[in-house]
Amino acid sequence: MKVITTVLELKKELRSQSGSIGFVPTMGSLHDGHTSLMSEAKLKDDILVVSIFVNPTQFLEGEDLENYPRDNKADKLICEKNGVDFLFLPQVDEIYRVDEVSLNAPNVKGYILEGSERPGHFSGVLTVVNKLFNIVKPTHAYFGRKDAQQLFLIKQMVQNLYMDVIVIEVDTLREEGGLAQSSRNIYLSSREREDALRIYESLIFAKGVVSSGELSSDIIEFEMREILSALDVEHIAIVSREFDAIKSVKIGETIIVVEVVVGITRLLDNIYI
Ligand code: AMP
Repeated sequence: MKVITTVLELKKELRSQSGSIGFVPTMGSLHDGHTSLMSEAKLKDDILVVSIFVNPTQFLEGEDLENYPRDNKADKLICEKNGVDFLFLPQVDEIYRVDEVSLNAPNVKGYILEGSERPGHFSGVLTVVNKLFNIVKPTHAYFGRKDAQQLFLIKQMVQNLYMDVIVIEVDTLREEGGLAQSSRNIYLSSREREDALRIYESLIFAKGVVSSGELSSDIIEFEMREILSALDVEHIAIVSREFDAIKSVKIGETIIVVEVVVGITRLLDNIYI
């Protein structure tokens, strides 16, 4: 595995390779969710590139940019073990200059749900993903369904800007008990971790309700709120795969999204129906 810190060197290395390039962008503090993306890429692509970059433009004022968990030493070992060919580890000033051109998330779907709690967050995500795509020029880029709104917006960016990359969606990897793996789970106390199990419980319950034939979004949401009543719920949303609110679940075309705050931590989860 080659660890690379500059754009120029990574471009030079990748242009001299032949075969397809699989790319997994991350913010590090790697866990099994990230490695499941890498495994998918290993199956499909000849060369695996992983980036670790805690992207400042997607953090709002007062968020956890400074304290975001970072562990490059452990991350390098994980990448090595998972067959990464090139690990891109740039500093902030390698990626950003002052007074730049940047991307804006779409006005509606970039500013609903998580985007309404974190206005501008998705513009930062799209800006950095665009930059990384231009550096790596991947054949396939792998993203988790765990961050469903982000995934949708990246697919929309690829479409809107006619980018030559195929986005591959990877299912959410969970801890025992169902809590979705996340780098921010380390902020949770054991009590909060226990409380957070209600999230997956509510999603599985919703899936069961749909299986029993109840498709009304209002009824499903009402019942989910009961399960989540002890938590600080920011959003429960029943949306199409394009993130339009829907009155009635359509099997194969729906995402149920839950966003809650547990202690100081915002937890996102969802289920594709
Ligand atoms: P992050 O480092 O949190 O920015 O995540 C990097 C990538 O890993 C994104 O595409 C996430 O959606 C994906 N990811 C994060 N957690 C999980 C998970 N539990 N299962 C699958 N993918 C995940």
